Amino acid sequence: MKIGIMGGTFDPIHLGHLATAEAVRESFSLDEILFIPAARPPHKLGRLVTDEHHRLQMTILATRSNKFFRVSDMELRRTGLSYTLDTMNELHETFGRATELFFIIGADSLADLKKWHAARELVAKCHFIATTRQGVDVDFAAVEKFFGAAANEHIHRVTTPGLEISSTDIREKILRGRSIKYLVPEAVEEYILREKLYCGS
Ligand code: ATP
Ligand code: MG
Repeated sequence: MKIGIMGGTFDPIHLGHLATAEAVRESFSLDEILFIPAARPPHKLGRLVTDEHHRLQMTILATRSNKFFRVSDMELRRTGLSYTLDTMNELHETFGRATELFFIIGADSLADLKKWHAARELVAKCHFIATTRQGVDVDFAAVEKFFGAAANEHIHRVTTPGLEISSTDIREKILRGRSIKYLVPEAVEEYILREKLYCGS
């Protein structure tokens, strides 16, 4: 089994996340993609993140039409900070050691990978797929220098269709009363309106 992991705050999940996951699934022949909403992302401690129940619900709604997409609440159930190392270990326990894990990250995060908790151990034991958009440059030489031979085998790069969408932009649009149609799946748009998320009230 080869499983792709798409982690994120998903506040809210949008078509950029979904299109990227689907493109990666096909190009790496992954058996499924597991979407894992993060509890308290260490790098976003400064910002108030929407209630996890809502973020989980939107992720479920967004992924239900794709039979290769699944959602896990494992990081939400964990207390304290979420570390990818804990997630990897838990997934290896669930799926067995023979299952290969592919963590999907934005190419911009690739430069920071060396600063992640237990970075070298992670790269030795699972795969990372850095998704980059046309015209975006990543200093892969620096990554190779830090991770050595493991980088060649376990860190992959792929160019995915560049959807210029971000959750930040979606939240701002809602706050200003603008449309978010065609940026998120319809079911997510309906959920956001029904639950009055991001509207500042
Ligand atoms: P925010 O604006 O709040 O930072 P975001 O849109 O970046 O949100 P995250 O939940 O932070 O979404 O991202 C989860 C993962 O998805 C990260 O690895 C990020 O690099 C990637 N990602 C985010 N937006 C896109 C996009 N438009 N296309 C491809 N990948 C994306
Ligand atoms: Mg982001």
